[in-house]
Amino acid sequence: MPENSSTAEIVAAMRSAQRIAVVAHVRPDGDAVGSVLGLALSLRALGKDVIALLEDGVPSNLAFLPGTDTVIQPGSEPLQVDLAIALDTATHERIGAKCKALLDPAPLLVNIDHHPTNPRYGTLNLIDSDSPATGQIIYNLLTEHGLPVDDAVRQNLFIAISTDTGSFQYPATNARTHRIAAEMIEAGLDTARLAQFAYHSYPLRRLALMRDMLNHMEFRADGRIVSWQLKQKLMDEISMDPGDTEGLIDTLRMIDSVVSCVIFEDVEGGKVRVSARSKDNRLDVSVICSKFGGGGHRLASGARLKGPIEEAAEKFLQALEDEVRRID
Ligand code: AMP
Repeated sequence: MPENSSTAEIVAAMRSAQRIAVVAHVRPDGDAVGSVLGLALSLRALGKDVIALLEDGVPSNLAFLPGTDTVIQPGSEPLQVDLAIALDTATHERIGAKCKALLDPAPLLVNIDHHPTNPRYGTLNLIDSDSPATGQIIYNLLTEHGLPVDDAVRQNLFIAISTDTGSFQYPATNARTHRIAAEMIEAGLDTARLAQFAYHSYPLRRLALMRDMLNHMEFRADGRIVSWQLKQKLMDEISMDPGDTEGLIDTLRMIDSVVSCVIFEDVEGGKVRVSARSKDNRLDVSVICSKFGGGGHRLASGARLKGPIEEAAEKFLQALEDEVRRID
């Protein structure tokens, strides 16, 4: 696997480019959107022409972030850029087929991520799996190299970090994470306002999802595994937005007997999206997800399986149960 590039090399590439595209993974979460906009707004303040590009656009739960109105989805027009930057995206394909087709001609690709499974597919790579969020890597990069950081950049990077650490709770959260939050507060960032938007402004649709999840969650392996199937029928009934599910899995993690929880969700093309979590460091869900073509982190991973959802769930849960029983 290629080595990491130095942050100086990466910043030099950013400084010498004029037209830059910043992209993240399909079905973007808080870390993807926050990292893209945190970096894009900083580079714009530096005088660059920056295209913030997301295959699936911004989910409605993150629309409050400054700069989301400038995010575009890929169209058919070619994009002439000097530099493409992929953030928080474990494999090149996960930026999305349309984004990939538009950005493949770019002469230089910078890949910045915190997933340990990232194969370093960029021309320049910065993979730091000790960072709990890509937003933390971006904040360090900007501040270490004197790139512009204003309140809008801080809002985006704070949400990137806060959402990917489960509000500073997951084990990967470290001292630096808290120091960054402290620096941001000292600089005047209103974190309570951001928490209000991110965690206390759910649409009723999300509660409908929660109700279905609590009514239909299924246990196995003596309560150590819990799973839920989010079916197309319910999504249609409530006109679900993809962002409505962000963090929902944390409710399943709360159960004391549970060491692993999984959400299966119908997605386009007859596929099933798998979100898996582990609460026990001995259980590496990224290994199980990798068996199904996915990946991610030891304690939080994902994959896409062929439907129907009931069959995909059974196949995945069988593999998971084998692993859970092995760590007994
Ligand atoms: P999620 O359950 O969607 O929140 O994803 C958990 C973690 O796994 C995130 O860090 C994702 O980037 C990663 N992940 C999710 N789906 C995939 C996939 N199909 N391939 C590789 N990594 C994935």
